[in-house]
Amino acid sequence: MASHADTTPLRKLLVEELRDLYNGEKQLTKALPKLARNATSDQLRDLLENHLEETEQQISRLEDAFEMLGEKPRGKHCDGIAGIVEEGNAMLQEDFDGAVLDAAIIAGAQRAEHYEIAAYGTAMAWAKVLGLKDLAELLDQTLEEEKAADEKLSALAESTINRQAASESMAAAKR
Ligand code: FE
Ligand code: FE
Ligand code: ZN
Repeated sequence: MASHADTTPLRKLLVEELRDLYNGEKQLTKALPKLARNATSDQLRDLLENHLEETEQQISRLEDAFEMLGEKPRGKHCDGIAGIVEEGNAMLQEDFDGAVLDAAIIAGAQRAEHYEIAAYGTAMAWAKVLGLKDLAELLDQTLEEEKAADEKLSALAESTINRQAASESMAAAKR
């Protein structure tokens, strides 16, 4: 017999959130290579490629999460990530290059990370209150990867790329 927690509205909401994430991560496996291809900085390209590998693991972690819940791994279109990806693509159509382009790529990637951090943080909190400890731990692994990816992007922007973007812009203005 199904336990009480199996039928609660909160559990249903958790499954919906995981479906949103499952689809969002899949969208990101298509968007990240495009961003990586357009990056000028080798460090930025490495970072995006590395996060693509993590994203693939995150997808299989979500499949494990569905299994833990006795649900089929099924996505539900994530409008949030779709919007972020659309904005990123629109930005790539503009004529930015060099470090300015890299700064713009970082801005787009960080929007995606923040969306994911919010969603995984929420899902983990719900898993916890539902007493689904293993699931909460699984989601926390991904949450930590998303936070680390976000921090690495910030560190790269602050250590070099933003300053390069500013000086390239000044050089261009003098021309
Ligand atoms: Fe992710
Ligand atoms: Fe979403
Ligand atoms: Zn991510």
